[in-house]
Amino acid sequence: MLVRSTNLTLLLVVAMAIPACSAFAQPPTRSDPKDWSEHFPPHHMIGNIYYVGSRGLAAYLITTPQGHILINSNLKTSVPLLRESIEKLGFHFADIKILLISHAHFDHDGSSAEIKKLTGAKYMVMDADVPVVESGGESDFQYGDDPALRYPATKVDRVLHDGDEVRLGDTVLVAHLTAGHTRGCTTWSMKVQNAGKIYSVVIVGSPNVNPGYKLVNNARYPEIARDYERGFQVLKSLPRRIEETESGLVCAATTSTNGPIENPAQACGCGNFLRTNTAQPRVFWLRAWRLFLPARLPD
Ligand SMILES: [Zn+2]
Repeated sequence: MLVRSTNLTLLLVVAMAIPACSAFAQPPTRSDPKDWSEHFPPHHMIGNIYYVGSRGLAAYLITTPQGHILINSNLKTSVPLLRESIEKLGFHFADIKILLISHAHFDHDGSSAEIKKLTGAKYMVMDADVPVVESGGESDFQYGDDPALRYPATKVDRVLHDGDEVRLGDTVLVAHLTAGHTRGCTTWSMKVQNAGKIYSVVIVGSPNVNPGYKLVNNARYPEIARDYERGFQVLKSLPRRIEETESGLVCAATTSTNGPIENPAQACGCGNFLRTNTAQPRVFWLRAWRLFLPARLPD
C-alpha cells in the first residue's frame, strides 16, 4: 500500500536490462553468455520490488496482495530460474497477473509466451514493440533476419502508449517511451513505500546503441537517431529531479559481460553492484549516476 508523504524521497532503480542492451556488452550471438542463465540470489530491493533475474539478466517482481507484476521474461529457457527465484522469496509464480518487458529483445521477452500460458498473466507491451513480440522477433529492425534470435511469438493483451499507467492493487507503474534500442523500449517508473518514506523508482529500459546499429540512413528504422535523442532527454530528466529533491539514486543495471563490479565508477553500468551492495549510502548512487550520464549522453 502506498502512503503519501510531503517529504518525497526520490530513489532511482536503473535496471538496464542488458546485452542486447549494454554499451559494455556483446551483441547477441548464437551462444548466450553463461551468466545470462546463471543463478543469482533473489532478494528484496525496496518497497514491494524484488530481484528475481539471473546474474546477467535482470527481472523484477513487484508484489501486491492482488497478485504480482513481472518485468522481463528473459530468455526462452529462463522460466525455471525465474520460478525458483520467485518461490524462494515466498511468492507464487502462478500469482503473476501482469507481465511487462523493458524492450522486445530475445533476452528480455523470450519466455513471455510460456509465462502467459503458465500463469494467465496479461501481457502489456509498448505499442511500437508489439509487432516484434507478436512475430517472435521476426520484425525486429536489427535482428529479425536471424532465426537464432527468435523466440515464441506472443500475443499482447494490452497495447501501451507513452505515459500509460499499469495498475495492480495499490501499485501504479508508468510506461515511459525511451525508444532507439528498440522502437518501443520502455522505462518504468513507480512510487514505493519503504521504512516510512516514499521513493520514486525508475527501471530503465536500455539507452544503449548495440554493435551494428546504424544511426544514419537506417532503412529499417529511419527515425532511430531521433528516437535515441528523445529517449536520452527523458533519461536525463531523472537525475535533475533527484537534485531538486536533494535525494539519492540507486542504479541497478545488469550486465552480462562485466561480472561483479569492483569499481564504483562503473556502478551505473552494472547492476551486480547494487544487487550485492544494497546498503550503500544513497548519495553514492547519485554520484554514480552523474558519472554515467555526462559521459554517455549528449547535451
Ligand atoms: Zn536489448
